[in-house]
Amino acid sequence: ISTHEAVQRLCDGEVVAIPTETVYGLAASVQHPDALASIYSLKGRPKDNPMILHGASVDQLLPFVEGWSDVHQACADAFWPGPLTLILKASEQVPSIVTAGLDTVAIRVPNHPLALEILEQTGPLAAPSANLSGKPSATKASHVNDDFGDAVAVVDGDQASIGLESTVVWAVEDTWRILRPGLIGAEEIDQVANI
Ligand code: AMP
Ligand code: MG
Repeated sequence: ISTHEAVQRLCDGEVVAIPTETVYGLAASVQHPDALASIYSLKGRPKDNPMILHGASVDQLLPFVEGWSDVHQACADAFWPGPLTLILKASEQVPSIVTAGLDTVAIRVPNHPLALEILEQTGPLAAPSANLSGKPSATKASHVNDDFGDAVAVVDGDQASIGLESTVVWAVEDTWRILRPGLIGAEEIDQVANI
């Protein structure tokens, strides 16, 4: 489907698969708790596995976190849009279904023109990888179709350029550490954030 149709469907509370530079994401609006919940059922994802909140910009994501510091901003300036996910304390605006009940939230600005075009119009979207739980992450629209068929509409953004999940960094307070390795490594982050 087109980005225009994706925006309409997401704003109506539907789940839509969108391309990012890492892998395809199964996206739902942070404004639609029912749609967020159906991401878990569609994927067969355990309810205790939190999702990453994607935004078009830092400004779009700031209301959802607490304790945004100069170090977070420096990382955003250096790596966003890009394959780095930061975990901060969640604000009260984050639905607990996104964080699986944790008091922290993972955020990222993806580096894909279609994802950014959609996010600018929908606002933040939770978007775990668009594959059935336990299966390899989708890096092409056809992979999403293989796993979900007609149940999920897909925005085709060609092959994901990175094809590997984002680096996830615990960035709550001073004790930063990498929770999930990715293309951006500790050395690169260290030069900006001194983790
Ligand atoms: P996926 O969206 O499928 O790439 O999965 C997102 C991953 O990010 C989760 O499986 C967790 O490993 C990690 N994650 C997301 N939110 C949090 C959080 N609040 N605390 C710790 N890890 C998180
Ligand atoms: Mg995944």
